[in-house]
Amino acid sequence: MHYAALASGSKGNCHALSDGERTLLVDAGISLRQIRQRLDAVGWAPDRVQALALTHEHSDHIGALGVILRRTHWTILATAETRRAASRAQGVEIPHDRWIELKAGEPVDWAGWRVLPFALPHDAEDPVAYRVEAHGQACAVVTDLGHPTALVADHLQDLDLLVLEANHDVDMLREGDYPPQLKARILSRVGHLSNAAMAELLARACTARLKDVVLAHLSESNNHPDLARFAAEEVLRGSAIALHVAHQRNPLALSGTPDGGNP
Ligand SMILES: [Zn+2]
Ligand SMILES: [Zn+2]
Repeated sequence: MHYAALASGSKGNCHALSDGERTLLVDAGISLRQIRQRLDAVGWAPDRVQALALTHEHSDHIGALGVILRRTHWTILATAETRRAASRAQGVEIPHDRWIELKAGEPVDWAGWRVLPFALPHDAEDPVAYRVEAHGQACAVVTDLGHPTALVADHLQDLDLLVLEANHDVDMLREGDYPPQLKARILSRVGHLSNAAMAELLARACTARLKDVVLAHLSESNNHPDLARFAAEEVLRGSAIALHVAHQRNPLALSGTPDGGNP
């Protein structure tokens, strides 16, 4: 399996998973044009994208949904609540014949891949993260959660790749110039994951199988990549796990198994 972070942060999120045959996107918070350009930039064929899995209806995750429905034939994976909320937010309708209904906690088979959405504590209708298993490998994309839960930690066992939110440094956020209400929202139990909370969750996800960790959804105002990296390195010290940081504007691609073709 191959993974690419096409965009990650409050201005738009898009992750891509591919086995060389087909590509699944998780979220589409940047334009379709940018999605295609960034796939091209990392050497992935844009025409291999076949489906888009939505995590929740916030605009930094679904901003391109309307254009994608009009200009592509991609299948949309989403829970019923997220489908409804996303349709309302973007003024579009996800047609029944292009929709795979998800329920948190219930895996679906997508083209032979096992796609398991699981619930997150976040202030959206029915937010989920994804654990995807295919070709003997397992990876998870986990962003937009206010605090680590036991249920989330349970889904992060025996992964090969973990993409995990490291949104803010609590002191930078507290001392920064965000309005008090916005600070309170981000710091709440249903807001975003701090570097310290990320480290706590990462410690619970560190199994012998884990090879790569990608820190994601970093705030450009309330975090610094070095701070997020340092918090994760404290946990990963002594292990052979590779640490990466996803970026808002520059795509990052990791190649996986040797048997996977060129995505
Ligand atoms: Zn969100
Ligand atoms: Zn977000």
